[in-house]
Amino acid sequence: MTNVAFLGLGAIGRPMAHHLAAPGYSLAVWNRTAVRAAAFKAGLTNADVRHAKTPADAARGAAVVITCLPTSHDVASLLDGPHGLLSAMTKGTVLVDCTSGDPATSQHIAARLSELGIAFLDAPVSGGVVGAEAGTLTVMVGGDVATLERVRPVLETFGEKVVHCGPVGAGHALKAVNQAMLAVHIWSLGEGLVALARAGVQPAVALDVINASSGRSNSSMNLFPPRVVTRAFPRTFKLALLAKDLGIAAQLLREQKVPSPIIQLAAELFSAAHRELGDEADHVEAVKVIERQAGAEIK
Ligand code: NDP
Repeated sequence: MTNVAFLGLGAIGRPMAHHLAAPGYSLAVWNRTAVRAAAFKAGLTNADVRHAKTPADAARGAAVVITCLPTSHDVASLLDGPHGLLSAMTKGTVLVDCTSGDPATSQHIAARLSELGIAFLDAPVSGGVVGAEAGTLTVMVGGDVATLERVRPVLETFGEKVVHCGPVGAGHALKAVNQAMLAVHIWSLGEGLVALARAGVQPAVALDVINASSGRSNSSMNLFPPRVVTRAFPRTFKLALLAKDLGIAAQLLREQKVPSPIIQLAAELFSAAHRELGDEADHVEAVKVIERQAGAEIK
């Protein structure tokens, strides 16, 4: 029986934690808004799940503590104080941060934990809510290889592909670059489809051709047909979070002194789109900004 704590039952954390409500695991869950953790536990009457009232309460006795919060700063904010993680985590345990965070803050957290004999891995995920529900996420891990091998079975409950990427921060860096690609694809496809609609090409026809051609992407294949063309725009991954990811990517590229006009501009565009559309908007709704500016819809 492995004791695991999971903190952060948001859109992706909840289905990830669900896979740990399974034989072989004793799971403690904590969420800032307690009612969500209570509902999670209530829905799993047959599993060994405990609703923890504080981060420390969740971490007590856990060999592995998993966090999945919006930012690395949110993770750092759970460490200290009488109810903080560090008051309960013990030597030899591991903090696995599945947040799409930033490398520098994670390196700082890892250094603090290391003084206490606690290991840290950054382990952001890709595959979305659908992948989290199916247990088919890709987990990109930064940190010590031996520590990863120790916790790999835990990560494989929700991850189909668990990859060691490099030292602490490498997972976050890779995730941020992936997110920058996603953002550039969404924005450029949005611009292209609005122009094609104006030129008399139906978006469904355009996507059918693009998806059989070299311009295709996850956005053209899996995001635009069911979300944009239908105007459904389901809310599964917040635009605010993608804008945050782009900020991390843009900073990484600046720090690495790589000329990066496209990613720097994408960071500005998504940040402005977040300001315009608000905190609850989904990432794909960014195309609404293009549509508004052009005065035409993709449909
Ligand atoms: P949500 O906004 O749906 O959930 C955020 C979670 O973090 C909630 O449980 C929220 O608690 C908690 N939280 C927010 N701020 C704090 C804080 N200051 N202290 C403690 N808890 C806090 O986000 P997601 O679940 O979508 O995303 C989580 C992470 O995973 C992000 O880094 C995101 O970029 C990444 N991610 C998300 C994907 C997706 O498809 N959704 C895909 C891949 C990565 P409360 O219930 O109280 O609000």
